[in-house]
Amino acid sequence: MQRQTPQRRAILSVVSAASSPLTAEQVYGAVTEAFPHLALTTVYRGLDAYVDAGLVRRSIYDDGVARYEIAAEHRHFLTCTRCKKSVPLSVCPFEQLEEQLVRETGFQISGHKMEFFGLCPDCAERNEREG
Ligand SMILES: [Zn+2]
Ligand SMILES: [Zn+2]
Repeated sequence: MQRQTPQRRAILSVVSAASSPLTAEQVYGAVTEAFPHLALTTVYRGLDAYVDAGLVRRSIYDDGVARYEIAAEHRHFLTCTRCKKSVPLSVCPFEQLEEQLVRETGFQISGHKMEFFGLCPDCAERNEREG
């Protein structure tokens, strides 16, 4: 990959410090705190370079927006549809299923994604109070 500029490094550290996958706009918002003159296209290019290098994984979510996360971390999330809070699961429930699918289909499975949606306890309580 191309030379590592401080801006590029900042992009990677924002992605790796995040507790859940980030959109390019969210990465841009965080990186511009340190580099106010950075262009959004620079963030996209930086993220793509890290994806190509295998350091960052890009997933397109159900809303059609790409999210970026550190590739080494394999996590699933519970996401609250109301406040958008994401809670990572401590385990991957699909490892055995993947092995089974490989046996049954002959596919070489390179990954999977699954996100759980619902109301977090706070929002569920608020929902009940507001009727
Ligand atoms: Zn919530
Ligand atoms: Zn998994």
